[in-house]
Amino acid sequence: MPDTQMVPSVPGGADISSDRPVVVLGGGPAGLTAAYQLVKAGKPVIVLESTGQLGGIARTTVKEGFRFDLGGHRFFTKVQEVDDLWHEIVGAEFLKRPRQSRIYWNDKFLEYPLEGMDVIRKLGLWELTLCMLSYLWAMLKPKGSEDTFEEWVSNRFGRRLYNHFFKTYTEKLWGVKATEIRAEWAAQRIKGLSFFAAAKAAFFGNKGNKIKSLISEFNYPKYGPGQMWELMAEAITSQGGEIRLNAPVTKLKIENQRITEVVAGGETLTPSHVISSLPLRTTVGIAEPEAPVEVRDAARGLRYREFLTVLLVISGHDLFPDNWIYIHQPGVQVLRIQNFKSWSPYMVPEGSTDASVGMEYFCFEGDELWNTEDEKLVAMAAEEIEKLHLARAADVKFGFVERVHKAYPIYDELYAERVRTIRNWLDSDLKNLTQVGRNGLHRYNNSDHSMLTAMRAVENILRGTDHDIWSVNVESVYHEEVHDSENPYAKDQHTPAMDGPLASDR
Ligand SMILES: Cc1cc2nc3c(=O)[nH]c(=O)nc-3n(C[C@H](O)[C@H](O)[C@H](O)COP(=O)(O)OP(=O)(O)OC[C@H]3O[C@@H](n4cnc5c(N)ncnc54)[C@H](O)[C@@H]3O)c2cc1C
Repeated sequence: MPDTQMVPSVPGGADISSDRPVVVLGGGPAGLTAAYQLVKAGKPVIVLESTGQLGGIARTTVKEGFRFDLGGHRFFTKVQEVDDLWHEIVGAEFLKRPRQSRIYWNDKFLEYPLEGMDVIRKLGLWELTLCMLSYLWAMLKPKGSEDTFEEWVSNRFGRRLYNHFFKTYTEKLWGVKATEIRAEWAAQRIKGLSFFAAAKAAFFGNKGNKIKSLISEFNYPKYGPGQMWELMAEAITSQGGEIRLNAPVTKLKIENQRITEVVAGGETLTPSHVISSLPLRTTVGIAEPEAPVEVRDAARGLRYREFLTVLLVISGHDLFPDNWIYIHQPGVQVLRIQNFKSWSPYMVPEGSTDASVGMEYFCFEGDELWNTEDEKLVAMAAEEIEKLHLARAADVKFGFVERVHKAYPIYDELYAERVRTIRNWLDSDLKNLTQVGRNGLHRYNNSDHSMLTAMRAVENILRGTDHDIWSVNVESVYHEEVHDSENPYAKDQHTPAMDGPLASDR
């Protein structure tokens, strides 16, 4: 048994050897980035990934030559190092792609961001008048309490617009009634967007991007995000790194405040350092000896929102030019539809005239939707796409389902305190482990942030820097305002770890 007291961390990574490699937990964007940086510096590294595929929640699924990007991942960052890394990996195949997304409402497409004449045409004068009257009433009437999302939004936009464009979408996304979502969330996510700001932008444009929301183009690997992870994996293994798939990590053995053993797939590794992108809940849950009871309780209390996507190949259709559309139509459960050919024409097999789409449904693991049989989900999606008049169900050639676990870390009333409790334990008891990435930090982020945290963790190990990974921030300027899937549950979103602008997935 190694005496861990004898092997303290050494700046420059001198304590890393092939007997004591850096062990990276999770083969998503963060884990792969850590491994990539380490092999570039000539250090032995082993990546342990529980599933049979790399890419985590940013993975690309391939079926019959069609490539499906789960969730639709735009590559956009203000962090030069991350941008450089992306280009280094994908090179000339990192395409610049135009962005188009619209709102589908009442059988009509509304441009997003809103455009004046388009809104008038699509809403019609009568509906527009009703919305204006409802807005004026909201302005004149006494405000009353503003505790909930519903009260906050309808006070500012009027009840009618709230019902059309906020209520159903938000409820479907988060699985809670709009009356149960805290007003603070709306205040944070929809700030800067008043009725007049929206109307002004709609009629006079959004000069200077005052409504901080949208980018009109973004980078995208020719073959989807999966290409990035495949190329990274090749670079890692060709430079001596090791990647083990189907290797779920089940135990982290702690001695003298260090992880001395990592157990995965029946094998035991002795790490010099551990970089973990596992959800905090998992890291705490597999520690041995067990973490103190308050830490275990905190970890068990962290919550996540899941989603599943029904992937359909539809014959002979180029359904719509958008990368994705937001579905505000009542009567269907689907929330967003991805159109993969618009992301990159190479997402469908060469010469194919078929369309491939991802119909996205939001749920909790174990709920009715999550547990619905795949066949039924495919049938439901086909029925819904027909109901939306976007394609005929009979034209669906084949379909299948991908479920995405822990897609969204939830910021509920207690999450910040829980994360703090876990973090204190990690800092004091696991000196050679660094948590990185999205669920690794319980951070609602984009892949640029996940990757940057991994880069900083490697710098701490190799250069002896003292970056506080929990405070790494990136500013993503492509918040989608009203449609943004930022988290609604938080009562108090301000924690030291959350200072600065938050990135979000669209
Ligand atoms: C719907 C949606 C849309 C998004 N859109 C964008 C976008 O447009 N642009 C963007 O930049 N980002 C986007 N993101 C965010 C992006 O997907 C994440 O930031 C990124 O994937 C997080 O990377 P990660 O490596 O931290 O975590 P993950 O991707 O979650 O990877 C963690 C890995 O750990 C593995 N693992 C878990 N438990 C174990 C275990 N016990 N043992 C071994 N391995 C384990 C998992 O299988 C997984 O592969 C989006 C996310 C969602 C959900």
